[in-house]
Amino acid sequence: MKPIGLFGGTFDPVHNGHLNIAQAFADEIGLETVIFLPAGEPYHKTAAQTAAAHRLAMVEAAVADYPQFAVSDCDIVRQGATYTFDTVQIFRQQFPNTPLWWLLGSDSLMKLHTWKRWETLVRQINIAVAMREGDSLNKTPAVLHSWLGGALQNGSVRILNTLLYPVSSTQIRSELQQGRFSDGLIPPQVERYIRRHGLYQN
Ligand code: ATP
Repeated sequence: MKPIGLFGGTFDPVHNGHLNIAQAFADEIGLETVIFLPAGEPYHKTAAQTAAAHRLAMVEAAVADYPQFAVSDCDIVRQGATYTFDTVQIFRQQFPNTPLWWLLGSDSLMKLHTWKRWETLVRQINIAVAMREGDSLNKTPAVLHSWLGGALQNGSVRILNTLLYPVSSTQIRSELQQGRFSDGLIPPQVERYIRRHGLYQN
């Protein structure tokens, strides 16, 4: 049975960096599918964010061309703060015998120790890490060192080989607010959605 990949994020908006690492995740781990999980109320992000319905619709538009990718609204329809730990319990119950993998950018890996019940979480799910610009595993906080060393050795954490894709949602929001936009950062159908709904404008 091929493993299933889960990819949580704010996706405000989803961009080609997300699609790029999701494809590497599917290819390198040999996944059946990658399920994108737009966050409802991320407790560790304070900036005002775009309505969940818009972020969900943009991810749906972005993955439409990728038969291996799917989207779940399970973190959006849940009430209150959504924790990855709770999301993983839902998928664990739904797929009791299928190996599960979680995809993380390296910036999220550096904060993993702040996540709810992270030590239990990492025993329940494997983790694939996509490196981001400027990050290196040497920067991992000390509290994660012994777990990460062991997990890299036993294969429950894998670092993806994908090339760095230097784009972030923050950069895209800032470009849109300044009325400019670089090519190749987001899929055209997401750009059309943004323009149609007047998102990310002052
Ligand atoms: P923001 O700029 O608003 O913080 P973001 O671009 O980091 O957003 P998120 O939706 O927060 O996007 O990201 C979801 C996950 O994807 C996170 O684990 C993040 O580290 C990872 N990620 C996002 N962009 C990239 C990228 N270009 N390369 C590797 N990982 C990425």
